[in-house]
Amino acid sequence: TLSIVLFTSDLRLHDHPPLRAALDGSTAVVPLFVRDEGIAASGFTAPNRAAFLADCLADLDAGLRERGGRLVVRSGDVVEQVCAVVAESDADEVHMAAGVSAYAQRREERLRAALEAEGCRLHVHDTVITAVAPGDVTPAASDHFAVFTPYYRHWSQQHLREALAAPRVVRVPDGVGSEEVPAREKVAGVSEGLAAGGEGEGRRRLTAWLRGGIGAYDDRHDDLAGDATSRLSPHLHFGTLSPVELVRRARAAGGPGAAAFVRQVAWRDFHHQVLAARPAASDADYRTQRDRWRTGARAEQDIEAWKQGRTGYPVVDAAMRQLRHEGWMHNRGRLLTASFLTKTLYVDWRVGARYFLELLVDGDVANNQLNWQWMAGTGTDTRPNRVLNPVVQGKRYDPDGTYVRRWVPELEGLTDASVHEPWKLRGLERAAYDYPDPVVELSEGLARFKNARGRL
Ligand code: FAD
Repeated sequence: TLSIVLFTSDLRLHDHPPLRAALDGSTAVVPLFVRDEGIAASGFTAPNRAAFLADCLADLDAGLRERGGRLVVRSGDVVEQVCAVVAESDADEVHMAAGVSAYAQRREERLRAALEAEGCRLHVHDTVITAVAPGDVTPAASDHFAVFTPYYRHWSQQHLREALAAPRVVRVPDGVGSEEVPAREKVAGVSEGLAAGGEGEGRRRLTAWLRGGIGAYDDRHDDLAGDATSRLSPHLHFGTLSPVELVRRARAAGGPGAAAFVRQVAWRDFHHQVLAARPAASDADYRTQRDRWRTGARAEQDIEAWKQGRTGYPVVDAAMRQLRHEGWMHNRGRLLTASFLTKTLYVDWRVGARYFLELLVDGDVANNQLNWQWMAGTGTDTRPNRVLNPVVQGKRYDPDGTYVRRWVPELEGLTDASVHEPWKLRGLERAAYDYPDPVVELSEGLARFKNARGRL
C-alpha cells in the first residue's frame, strides 16, 4: 500500500495520528503540503502567518529528511493537487486531520468525492487539531455546547489518548515532484518582532514553559507587562504542537498554574466545537444580533485611530501597537481592545476581527471570530453586555504603566498616577506629550451602547 499524508494545520512529526496510520499500513508515504489557492483567495493568508508557515514547512521538511524522507510541496487547488499526486504515486489512501471551519469541511467533502472517483480512500483523523474532538462532548439536546463552564466540566472528564512518538523512518517514493519549500525571507510586510515557527521551536518553547512559567500562570497570566503566558498560540494554530500532548504534559506538571493553563487550552477546543457545529458563525452573529453598528466618516476615523494605536486610551493603544509590532497580542489586550471597538466605539465586530486576522500570527477562524463575538456580546458570553473600562483595566493589569511605556514611548515620562489618564494633565505639562486626546469620552460611549442596546 502507498499512502499520502496531507498536512494542513498539523505541521509536525510528533503525535501525528494521520502519519502514524499511514506508516503502519504502507510501504511508503508521500508527506504532502498544498499551498492552497482557495485559502489565498479567501483572503486568509497574511504576511505574518505566511512567514511563520514558511518556518514550519522548512522544519517539517528537515525533520522528514533526517528520517530518510522529504516534504512534497505543491501549489494550486488542494483537491486537484492531491488527485495529481495520487496519480503520480499510484497511492491507495490519503490520510488527513479533521478540520472545523466551513472551508475545511467543504475541502474534506470535495476530497472525499474526488478520491472516491479515483478509487482512493480518504481517512480523516480527529484529535489532531483539538485535544477533544468536536462532537465528542455534547449536551443532551444539542450538537454542541454554547456555554463554556458546562463544556469544560465534560471536557475535563474525557480520556485523552496517549501521545504518539515521532516516526524513526519515513520512506518516500521516488518520482513525485515537489516545489521548493517557501522561504521566510521572501515574505514581505512581516512584523518586526514576529516569533520563529517550526516544530523544533514549538517543542523548545513548550519544554521551557513546563519547566518555568506554567507554575505562576494562575497568578500572572493577566499581567500585561509581565508577559507571563506561554505564547504557544501560533504553534497550536499551525499544529507544530499537538494539543493532546500539550494537555497531557501540562497535567503531568501539576499544580494550580497547570490547571489554569489547561482550562485556557480548553477554551480553544470550546470555540472549535462551536465553529464545527455552526460554521456560519465565522461571519454571522452566533446568538444575539446587534445591528445599527456605527458607520460613516466619523466611525471610519475612530476605526483608523484604533488600528493605529492612537485612540488616546494608553492601554488600548499599547495593545494595538504590540499587535502591529509582533503579530501577537496579550489576551488581556485582545479583550480590552475588542471591548473598546465594539462597545465603546460601537463598531461591528467583523471590522475588528478582520484587522486582527491581517496581523495575528495565531489568527484562527475559530478562536478569533468566536472570541470577537464573545466580546461583542453576539456570541457565547453569558453576560453579553459587560463593557471593559480601559482606564480601570489599565490600572488593574498594568498598575505601574510598564506595558504602556513599552509600547507608547510618547508617554514614557509620565508618572504611574497619570500614565493611564494623560488627558488629566493640564497646561504645559499636557502640551509636553505628543499624544492624542481620547477619541470618545467613556461616558458618551457607554450611553451610546446602552441606547443601542435598548433598541435591539
Ligand atoms: P496562554 O494564556 O498561554 O494560553 C494557552 C493556549 O490556550 C493559547 O495558546 C490558546 O491556544 C489557548 N487559549 C487561551 N485563551 C484562549 C481563548 N480565550 N480562546 C481560545 N483559546 C485560548 N487565540 C488564537 O489562538 N487565535 C486567534 O486568532 C485569537 N483571537 C482572539 C481575538 C480576541 C478578540 C480575543 C479576546 C482572544 C483571541 N484569542 C485568539 C485567544 C487568546 O487571546 C490567545 O489564544 C492567547 O492570547 C495566546 O497567547 P498564549 O499562547 O500566550 O496564551
